[in-house]
Amino acid sequence: MNKFVFAFGGGHSDGDRTMKELLGGKGANLAEMSNIGLPVPSGFTISTKSCEFYHQNRLHWPDGLEVQVEDAIAELEKKTDAVLGDPAQPLLLSVRSGAAVSMPGMMDTVLNLGMNDDVVEGLAKKTQNARFAYDDYRRFIDMFADVVMGIPHEAFEHAMADLKVEKGIVLDIELTADHLKELVDRYKAIYRIKTGYMFPQESREQLRLSINAVFNSWESSRAKKYRQVNKINSLKGTAVNVQAMVFGNMGDTSGTGVCFTRDPSNGENVLYGEYLVNAQGEDVVAGIRTPEPIVTLKQQMPKQYEELVTITTMLEKHYKDMQDIEFTIQEGKLFILQTRSGKRTGAAALKIAVEMVNEGIVEKEKAIESLVSPEHLDQVLHPQFDPADIKEKAILGKGLPASPGAAVGRVVFSSETAEAWRDKGEKVLLVRVETSPEDVGGMDASEGILTSRGGMTSHAAVVARGWGKPCVAGCNSIIINYKNKSFTNGRTTIKEGDWVSLDGTRGEIIKGALPLHAASLSGDFRQLMKWVDEIRTLGVRANAETAEDVAKALEFGAEGVGLARTEHMFFGPERIMAMRKMILSDSTEDRIHHLEELLPFQVDDFTEIFKELDGKPVNIRLLDPPLHEFLPHNDEEIGHLADILHIPFDRLKNKVNSLSEFNPMLGHRGCRLGITYPEITKMQVRAILTAALNLKKEGIKVHPEIMIPLVSTVQEFKNQKQAVLETARSLFEEYNDTIAFQLGTMIEVPRAALIADEIAKEAEFFSFGTNDLTQMTFGFSRDDANIFLSHYLSEKIMTVDPFSSLDIEGVGKLVTMATQAGRSINPNLRVGICGEHGGDPNSIEFFHNNGLDYISCSPYRVPIARFAAAQAALKAKQMEKTDGIVV
Ligand code: PEP
Ligand code: MG
Repeated sequence: MNKFVFAFGGGHSDGDRTMKELLGGKGANLAEMSNIGLPVPSGFTISTKSCEFYHQNRLHWPDGLEVQVEDAIAELEKKTDAVLGDPAQPLLLSVRSGAAVSMPGMMDTVLNLGMNDDVVEGLAKKTQNARFAYDDYRRFIDMFADVVMGIPHEAFEHAMADLKVEKGIVLDIELTADHLKELVDRYKAIYRIKTGYMFPQESREQLRLSINAVFNSWESSRAKKYRQVNKINSLKGTAVNVQAMVFGNMGDTSGTGVCFTRDPSNGENVLYGEYLVNAQGEDVVAGIRTPEPIVTLKQQMPKQYEELVTITTMLEKHYKDMQDIEFTIQEGKLFILQTRSGKRTGAAALKIAVEMVNEGIVEKEKAIESLVSPEHLDQVLHPQFDPADIKEKAILGKGLPASPGAAVGRVVFSSETAEAWRDKGEKVLLVRVETSPEDVGGMDASEGILTSRGGMTSHAAVVARGWGKPCVAGCNSIIINYKNKSFTNGRTTIKEGDWVSLDGTRGEIIKGALPLHAASLSGDFRQLMKWVDEIRTLGVRANAETAEDVAKALEFGAEGVGLARTEHMFFGPERIMAMRKMILSDSTEDRIHHLEELLPFQVDDFTEIFKELDGKPVNIRLLDPPLHEFLPHNDEEIGHLADILHIPFDRLKNKVNSLSEFNPMLGHRGCRLGITYPEITKMQVRAILTAALNLKKEGIKVHPEIMIPLVSTVQEFKNQKQAVLETARSLFEEYNDTIAFQLGTMIEVPRAALIADEIAKEAEFFSFGTNDLTQMTFGFSRDDANIFLSHYLSEKIMTVDPFSSLDIEGVGKLVTMATQAGRSINPNLRVGICGEHGGDPNSIEFFHNNGLDYISCSPYRVPIARFAAAQAALKAKQMEKTDGIVV
């Protein structure tokens, strides 16, 4: 029979850490911690397969699950010397979700299961602590009602608040046993009114319903949204962890907390976290009470603190990663409830990776493989504010620096508004008292998040850090008024739509929109990138066409330019005018005349770029876009141009109209322009080689590559090749000197990919233009596809946008084919890629595996591309070792 239930605790378990897919992250780690003898409360894990079966079979359990759960309870009762539902020796359970990928705050948890009217009395008698027993019961009713029956938690919160007012009490811990007893009665009444049923007294029934609730939470809209935002597509269900309760709310020698083995904000090697005395887990995470920093535990409970340090250090070494650990102290005894890799900021990830390598805990390959992600690098490349721009008077409030980086946006007070405004192209900051998993869509839509309540491990803080979004949490100096859509610090009131700047690194919120500055990269960044460059084999270039962009790209480690789009050089007041005159010319002579006006500009452009590159290669693409793009479009602009050029308005308008096309992206562009107007190609080639020859005279090395765009037949390429070579020959004669250059083509029309072997007979290099190749392979307009692509993505017709991550199945097949065909003719054919996919880690892995020589992406993506190339190399090596089986 299939095994659905895996027991753990008491020094051994049925599973281990490698069984994450089946047991979920939490379950696998509980099993592993039991195996290595850590004090883990005993329990059992119901596999993710059970949840998958449940959803695929109209919410039915698989055969055998019920019996296996019964057996596991019997074993647990034996281990704990307690019995579920028995008032004399009550066993209470926690029921928690845990998928293979951690989804913080997404899935539901039920604590204190097994409580009922008799058990509460029994527990009070057994522990001599009626307050504790009734506190557990009221918590259970609240959570069960919320998670299992869908009754909003607020109903119970209000009842508690009312009771406190009636009794003249401020803090929860001032509630006495009698108060809590009364609260239990009120909670049961709420339950009865809201559901129409009595609160269930039968513990097996409580358990069955709770397990189903965890299964159901996998398909809840918030969980689905989280998976969608985080692109989690492969998982089919969550595991359910059923575990004997340990109690942090048994008095002053008890407590519960969360800690990280290193600081998740900056990576410093200190035990970092927070805890609450006399509390249960949800009090810390939900941000309901403000927790104490972990260092105070050292004074309060020194023995337990030492034990915690020993265990957490051991866990970090065991898992070879920074750990996020939940613990509970029950009457002086420490229990570890959970360990997992801790979410961290980009800066922290870099520091932790570099230090763990230096401390000998991990190899540098392992650090690159698993301790840093491309998203982490993205974060450190994020902009920041200049402190000099921050005026003390403009500071609206200070809170916790929950997730670093700077963000500027217009404030909104609900997730719906955040999403709606984002969709209209607005930059927004989401302001909430606290966030809940329902807010993930709004948080995703926002530049940054501000909450007035909650700590460093509150929902807002954890999710924002994971996403690398700036967040200020627990900013209690402001008061938020949802009704008026405003917040105030007592002096200044900020209304919906006002601009605010948020500094997640310093925990400050500032009135107005401050300028954002690029991040300065730390020593850890440089060290890690040095290791990355030792490992990767794929070259990384940048797409750049100004000297400034080239300088930035080189600073970020680009090895050359993979695409200089020359059309970008024709904007600017003087150039655009010369360009327009050239386009509007009626004769070849006229056109040549105006091209001569453009020539010196182009020579200057190439001179600057060559100088900056100092001998590094630069791939210069000849003019590509349809000419219509350079012309004015409305009557006013056309009239203005007609005046300058002294042409009648109507004639100019007719000319502009004659150049417009129904499908310009499939029209008169790319090499089709150079073929119909060879003088354009000739001017550009002359400019490139003139700049190169002049610099050669000055002793500066240049390495130009000339690229013909949008080729689909060999004849097209040959035509342009001839124009290029003729121009070069005559220029070399004029100069009585030569310069070495290479001539190649873009592969961006599917037909070019299909006849790549023929093209390779003529071309010296290929560069895949995956933007156009995607457009033409799918027949999706790259400018308009968004109209339906978002629907395709939400309906899962597609899992990723093929314009941001390469469609490996289709477009990728063309890339593979063309590379192989090209190299079959010319084994040394250099092959690169310069579409947007050159900066996307998944696509980069594909390009590495297909033996491309280099990728080219925007300057800011260069470090991420270098890093992803190293990860791809490590992964490929691993696959080789294991014969293609991923381990
Ligand atoms: C491409 O098509 O992928 C490409 C790089 O060219 P462009 O985006 O300029 O069309
Ligand atoms: Mg293109």
